[in-house]
Amino acid sequence: MPIQETEAVLIRSYPLSESSVIGVFYTRDFGKVRAVARGVRSPKSKFRGQLDLLNRGHLIYTEKANRDLQTVRDFDLIDNFEQIKTDFDRFSYACYFAELIDAIESDGAESPEIFSLLMRTFCYFEMVGDLQLFARTFELHLLEITGYSPQFSRCSNCGNILTSQDTVLYYQDQTSEIVCATCVTPHLVRISRGSCELMKRLQQSDFGQLARIRASRQNYREMKFVLSALINFHTQRRLKSLKFLDLVETS
Ligand SMILES: [Zn+2]
Repeated sequence: MPIQETEAVLIRSYPLSESSVIGVFYTRDFGKVRAVARGVRSPKSKFRGQLDLLNRGHLIYTEKANRDLQTVRDFDLIDNFEQIKTDFDRFSYACYFAELIDAIESDGAESPEIFSLLMRTFCYFEMVGDLQLFARTFELHLLEITGYSPQFSRCSNCGNILTSQDTVLYYQDQTSEIVCATCVTPHLVRISRGSCELMKRLQQSDFGQLARIRASRQNYREMKFVLSALINFHTQRRLKSLKFLDLVETS
């Protein structure tokens, strides 16, 4: 049985027995890895305090061929993102980011880009001001990496480039495909040109550039509708952490 070593973030964990848990890790080299950590709930466990949700560490695990569940041998903590965990709003968002990656990525699909996005996300998220704008940017980046991003420059029906004449656009409630006013059909939802432009800009922005970007209440509302619809469509489920997030975002 080969032993694998990589850097990883614990994106989910759930109990397997009284003393053991199953950890879902997003790893730098092997994508999503599911592994059992034995004895972790015992007071004497070497994993105690190491395997908390969102912790980043150096993971060593035993890999069994053709098995979905691997075995954790060691996890050396690199960062526990304390600034995020001691702030309720930040922690709620960070749990949502982790749950979204878990929902959108299948086991074993390698993506160093997603690992890198996760690292940049947590590093910047410790100090960012506008949490909602950051969350929409995270969603846009993740959708782009996974190939589910909406097309913001062209009408998805006629293919025409959207110009400044297209002041009002429309999107399909589920797929979030954006269409021009000429192609509008019943049941499409209106979205302002400004929100569309803002999503395009956020998709092209690094997290460090967000401090210079402002959004209106209408932008926040429309971006959330479009991106939530798209995420629900691709993950085919309502994420648990979104319930908390709805409370955070409306408070
Ligand atoms: Zn069109």
